[in-house]
Amino acid sequence: MPDAAHSAEPARQPDEIQACDEGFMRVALEQAHAAARKGEVPVGAVVVRNGVVVATGHNAPVGGHDPTAHAEMEALRAAARVLGNYRLEGCTLYVTLEPCTMCSGAMLHARLDRVVFGAADPKTGAAGSVLNVFSDARLNHQTQVQGGVLAQDCGQLLQTFFQQRRGNPWPLREDALRTPEARFKVLPDYAWREHFIGDLPSLNGLRMHYLDEGPLDAPLTYLCLHPYPLWSYNWRKLIPALLSSGARVLAPDLVGFGKSDKPKKEHLHRFQWHRQVLLEWVERLDLRRLVLVLPGSDALLGLSLPVQAPKRYSGVLLVGGADDAVLQPGDGPTWLDLMGKHPEKGLGEYLRTLRQTNRRFSEPACAAYMAPFPDRGHCAALRAFPSMHTEASSEKLALAESVRDFWRRQWQGQSMVACGPQDLLLAEAALRVVQHAADAGLEGLRGPLTGCVPEEPGAQLAEVANPYFRSSASDDAR
Ligand SMILES: [Zn+2]
Repeated sequence: MPDAAHSAEPARQPDEIQACDEGFMRVALEQAHAAARKGEVPVGAVVVRNGVVVATGHNAPVGGHDPTAHAEMEALRAAARVLGNYRLEGCTLYVTLEPCTMCSGAMLHARLDRVVFGAADPKTGAAGSVLNVFSDARLNHQTQVQGGVLAQDCGQLLQTFFQQRRGNPWPLREDALRTPEARFKVLPDYAWREHFIGDLPSLNGLRMHYLDEGPLDAPLTYLCLHPYPLWSYNWRKLIPALLSSGARVLAPDLVGFGKSDKPKKEHLHRFQWHRQVLLEWVERLDLRRLVLVLPGSDALLGLSLPVQAPKRYSGVLLVGGADDAVLQPGDGPTWLDLMGKHPEKGLGEYLRTLRQTNRRFSEPACAAYMAPFPDRGHCAALRAFPSMHTEASSEKLALAESVRDFWRRQWQGQSMVACGPQDLLLAEAALRVVQHAADAGLEGLRGPLTGCVPEEPGAQLAEVANPYFRSSASDDAR
C-alpha cells in the first residue's frame, strides 16, 4: 500500500514539527537568496518527502522568459522528475511566500499532502489572503496549508529587494566598479541617450550600457560591436550616417568597457561569457533584421552570434581600418605587451600610435577613449582581453570551429567588407572575402590581437552600406 510508509512513521510532537518546518523553510530561503542574486523577485521553494529534500526551486520568470517559472512550479517540476511521477503524494512543499492561484492549482494537481509558506501575500495570495484555493470542500483532493513559518525573514528579504530596486535601480555589484559619470561629461560627437540592462541571467546584476537610436520598427537594425581596447565611442561617426537611412542602430559597451560596469577580477572575462551576454541581450530586445557591424581585426565575438540565432541576422559589415597595418605586432614591445601589466600605459601607447599615423585622430578623441578607465582598478577587461582572445580551451576551439563552419556553409545573409577609408570592397565578391576574413579572425585566436579604429569611413561607408543592406531587407520582405 502506498500509505504504509507514512503510517509507519511515529507521530511527531507539535514543537518537533515546528522545528522541522523551520529547518526546511531555511532551505527555501536560501533558494530565495539565489533568486535575488539573479535579479529575480526573491521567492524560494523546496519539496520534502519523508523528511528528505527531494527538489528545490526559485523564482525565474525573468531569466527563463517564462511567466510560469514561479519558485513553487520550479520545485514541483523538479520533484516530479526526481520521483518519476507527476503525483507528489506524501510530499510537503515549503515556499517563502504564499502561493498564487497558478501555483496553488498546480499543487492540487500534484496531490501534494501539505504546503507550508512563510510570508503572506496580501496582493495575490491564494492560500487565504485574497482567496483560498485549498479550503474549497468541492475539490476532491485536500492539501493541508500552514502559513507564517519564518514569516519575518521571508518577508524582510522581499521588502529589502523592492526597497533596493526603488531607491537604486542599478545597485553596483560588490565585485565591480562603475566609472564615475563625470568622466563622460565631455565626449565630442557622442550625445546619445544611455540605455542600461542588468537583469540578463549572465550579467548577474552587472550593468551593461548600450546605445539604441532610430525607430524600433526600422527595416534594418545595425548592431555595432566595438573592437578591443575601445568602446562604443568608436562608432560615433558611423552611427549618424547609418541612422540617416532610417535604420535603427545599437552599439553596446562590452562589460568592462565604456559605460558598462567593470568587474574587478580578470577571470570573469571569458570569451563564452561575453558571447552569452550578447546573445541574451539580442534575445531580450528581440532584435531582428540585424546587420552586424564588426571590426575586421576583432570580429570573432560578433561572428559567433548568428551561429546561435541565424534568423535574426540579415547582414554583416566587416570594417577594417587602414590603421590595422600600423598596429600589427612585431615592431618592438607593443601596446599589447603593455596591456597585461600596465593597462593604462598600454592603452595610452595604442592611442599614441594611432595619432602618429592618423592626423585626423584628435586629442579629445584620445581622452574619450581613456575616459572609462580612471585607474588601474577599472582596467581588468583591458588586462584580460588579450589572453581571452588567445585562450585555446577545447570549448573555445570547438566554438571557433562551428563559427568557421557556419560562415563557410550556412550563412545566408548579405556581406560586405570595408577595408580602410578609401578602399571599399563589396557586393559580388564580398561573401568570399568575408569567409576569408572570418577565417583570419579565427586564426587571430592564437596569435596576438590587433586593433582598429573604424572611425574615418563613417559617412562614406554608410553611403555604400545603407542601399546595399536595404536591398537585402526588401528581399526579406518579399
Ligand atoms: Zn505562483
